[in-house]
Amino acid sequence: MTSREHQPHDTVIEVGAVRIGGGFMVIAGPCSVESSDQMLCTAQGVKRSGAAVLRGGAFKPRTSPYSFQGMGEEGLRILAAAGRANGMPVVTEVMDTADIEMVAAYADIIQVGARNVQNFSLLKKLGAVDQPVLLKRGLMTKVEEFLLSAEYVMAAGNPRVILCERGIRTFETVTRNTLDLSAVCVLKEKTHLPVIVDPSHAVGLRRFVPPLALAALAVGADGIMVEVHCAPQDALCDGSQSLRPEEFARLMDQLRTMEEPMRRCWSQGPRPAAAPVE
Ligand code: PEP
Ligand code: MN
Repeated sequence: MTSREHQPHDTVIEVGAVRIGGGFMVIAGPCSVESSDQMLCTAQGVKRSGAAVLRGGAFKPRTSPYSFQGMGEEGLRILAAAGRANGMPVVTEVMDTADIEMVAAYADIIQVGARNVQNFSLLKKLGAVDQPVLLKRGLMTKVEEFLLSAEYVMAAGNPRVILCERGIRTFETVTRNTLDLSAVCVLKEKTHLPVIVDPSHAVGLRRFVPPLALAALAVGADGIMVEVHCAPQDALCDGSQSLRPEEFARLMDQLRTMEEPMRRCWSQGPRPAAAPVE
């Protein structure tokens, strides 16, 4: 069901007024929901700069059990309120099948994180939700395996899957992960599903996020998901990779500058094998 043989044209997923696929869109917000003030400040900032969807985790998959685990349902409430206040749909992660119903009550898009990309019971259950699923590639997930994970959700009844490349683990440790932009080209050829890039978790360092975000646009991704925080030095999670709102605003300007030239560039030749949008 994920393949271009099954469906040649690009899938466009509509979430309210937002279209994901067949154009470039931006998801932004903090790693985690920390408080109402933090969420409102960030939401206003990213909305002003043109982000389409607001992100924020309430259930956090942390490497250490002693790290901040997220605010749970209270975080979901804060996120949904910040989204509503700024007219933005929200995306947030579900980690446990037991929480799907609760997360689905607040989220416009449900995220499956890198660590759960092959949690097949979770994927199957997400086949039954109404919301689109944003599926992140795992740290060691091959492209074929990634597509089969998307296939699980689709085969279980939910055709609205968004794929997200977020860096893979390689021998290179100078950055948090290694952003696999080749995978974006390959995915765009193999599947009609929207493919977005998360440069924040891929690189782990704020100053390298903008160049990689621009590279994602150049390689033909359908969008990016970026971490933004009003006070990254105080963030409870991933502050060092979070852009400040003014840095995010500059990135959005750069993306807008680049969008049309890239379209012209692709019209002359080697844009990724994406079929025309119907
Ligand atoms: C996230 O996007 O909040 C996140 C935890 O990312 P990943 O699952 O890619 O590590
Ligand atoms: Mn994060």
